[in-house]
Amino acid sequence: MPPDALPFLEWFVRSPWGLTFALIWGALWGSFANVCIYRLPKGQSLLRPASRCPFCHTPIAWYDNIPVLSFVLLRGSCRRCHSRIGWRYPLVELLGAGLIAAVFVRFVDRDHAALPTQLAHFVVYGYFVLVLLVLSAIDLEHLLLPDRITLPSTLVFFCAGRLLADVRWMDSLVGMVAGYGVIWLIAEVYYRLTGREGLGLGDGKLLALVGATLGWQALPWTVCLGSVLGSLLAIPWLWLRKRQDQTQTLRHIAVPFGPFLALGAVLYLLLLHGRSLDEIARYVPGL
Ligand SMILES: [Zn+2]
Repeated sequence: MPPDALPFLEWFVRSPWGLTFALIWGALWGSFANVCIYRLPKGQSLLRPASRCPFCHTPIAWYDNIPVLSFVLLRGSCRRCHSRIGWRYPLVELLGAGLIAAVFVRFVDRDHAALPTQLAHFVVYGYFVLVLLVLSAIDLEHLLLPDRITLPSTLVFFCAGRLLADVRWMDSLVGMVAGYGVIWLIAEVYYRLTGREGLGLGDGKLLALVGATLGWQALPWTVCLGSVLGSLLAIPWLWLRKRQDQTQTLRHIAVPFGPFLALGAVLYLLLLHGRSLDEIARYVPGL
């Protein structure tokens, strides 16, 4: 890095441009997340071909592919065939922008470490929340957490965590094994008791990814937050699904658990990660 680069970077990151950059960066990666969500479950390449309209297969020009903005300007339809483009696309882009901005605020804006350390956290945890976003969207649509995302991600974030040095490698390793083990155990006990499959082992691989990245300390919080949010949100979800399909009984409607575990992990990362129990107790009322 040239000697003048660091003061400039310092100025840029501390100015309002820092957060602006994080929002745009997040929206662009949110746009790529859409490509992953659409193509990975179909086994298609992420790089080729370039983005096309899913209905008329016309390649989408760059000016029609600007996150959120293009969707608004084209009023949610293809320029050529006028088919409706799902609201999922701008929603994932907005979520990408919001999540990356939140990581920026937590690990750069409100952090006291040196700039290179802060930026390393921003990059690694930024990609971590994006992977969780992709997994959640795929799980919601397909009730599936693909191995080709969870397994390589676990390895990549285990190694990336070594650069950050805020989680000891032993804690990461224990987190990875315990994350998978806990879900495997619950699934096994549930199966023995009811004779039905409750949790998928994909949830275990997701929790292994969380444990490998954030250490085993993240697991109880992730599971608790995920279960509480899951119970609160599953009721309206079940009600909606039952209305759509009257033939299903409530017991047999599958509810994806992955998005709730992911949400639990993101909340842990943003609010609790790297803080001692005393610090947490100070701002959790009633603890
Ligand atoms: Zn079209």
